[in-house]
Amino acid sequence: MNDSTRAFLKQAYRQYYFGRADQIEFPKDIESREFGYIPFGGGMVRHLSFKNPGEAVAEIVRQAPSSVYCSNARYSAPTLPMEEKGWNGAELIFDIDATDIPTGCKREHDIWYCEGCGHSGRLPNPKKCPKCRGNTAELKGTCKTCLDASKDHAFRVVRFLTDDFGTSPEDIRIYFSGNRGYHLHVFDSRFFLLDQQARGEIADYLRGGSLPAIQTLAAEVRRGGNWSTTSGWMKKVITYVQEKEVGYAGTLQKLVSEAVSSQRAMVDASVTIDIHRVFRLAGTLHGNTGMRKTRVTSFDSFDPQVDPVVLSSEPVKVQVRFWPKFSIGGNSFGPFRSTIATIPIYAAVSILTRGLGEVAS
Ligand SMILES: [Zn+2]
Ligand SMILES: [Zn+2]
Repeated sequence: MNDSTRAFLKQAYRQYYFGRADQIEFPKDIESREFGYIPFGGGMVRHLSFKNPGEAVAEIVRQAPSSVYCSNARYSAPTLPMEEKGWNGAELIFDIDATDIPTGCKREHDIWYCEGCGHSGRLPNPKKCPKCRGNTAELKGTCKTCLDASKDHAFRVVRFLTDDFGTSPEDIRIYFSGNRGYHLHVFDSRFFLLDQQARGEIADYLRGGSLPAIQTLAAEVRRGGNWSTTSGWMKKVITYVQEKEVGYAGTLQKLVSEAVSSQRAMVDASVTIDIHRVFRLAGTLHGNTGMRKTRVTSFDSFDPQVDPVVLSSEPVKVQVRFWPKFSIGGNSFGPFRSTIATIPIYAAVSILTRGLGEVAS
């Protein structure tokens, strides 16, 4: 990324933060949170603290960073080194990303490209470009199938929390991450003091990781029992089997396997167990895409390719080395290869942040 591209991105992000600071969602107890940010072209700055939203907004506008983060934990002294902060509990968080959900379309849109000549192909990537021997990198694309799958798994998390943990829907805030997935912040105080191991067990439960083998589950279903008192996973499996078994041609094992795979939520367990992490602050922009981490109040009406697009639609000229076809803001762009493209700022950001294009004068 050259200096003028860096300055351009900073200006585009600053324009958003200057005009739409009201979109940033700060936690109530802001003074006990750790904040951090990544400047364009720089490394992570952490262990920051703000007394109030106004102070935080002033710093965000001043820095216009690529990413802004806030801890889910509350600390006695958020600016001290981790061991001395004084951890006072943290909201439970789930991260759902299309990367972790098996979808067939990734073969089409997850590709490798050559950092030297822009040559590209399907994964897995060769170590060296077959054309110029340059280094290769992976580029994970996104599509409606992946975004729908992420949304579906986010919905499954909500269902687990409300059905099996008795969490009130009002205590679950759902956000689109700004890229390929969703973050769920759970403000149910029963979870606040859970340690890493306990959070890991919850994530594992949602992923179906703690379930017995499919044969054992199927045997249990076959044996029958007093299903009216069954709860949790077993109830989900049985309800599914009872709904689908009439006229089903396959084996019971196959049906039970379907029951599990259609209801498990592929949350990223490493995120849930990390109680000292900082997360993208709601209402701020994703560092790679320029899309906003956006609160989702209705899964049905939320469109992840349109609603989080908040940067200007003013056209900008970009010298693109290489970029595949993509959709954003209700429009399609590309594919581009060694060309000058004139595209809206909101579409240019993804290309510029990955270093696959520079602003052209
Ligand atoms: Zn090459
Ligand atoms: Zn896809």
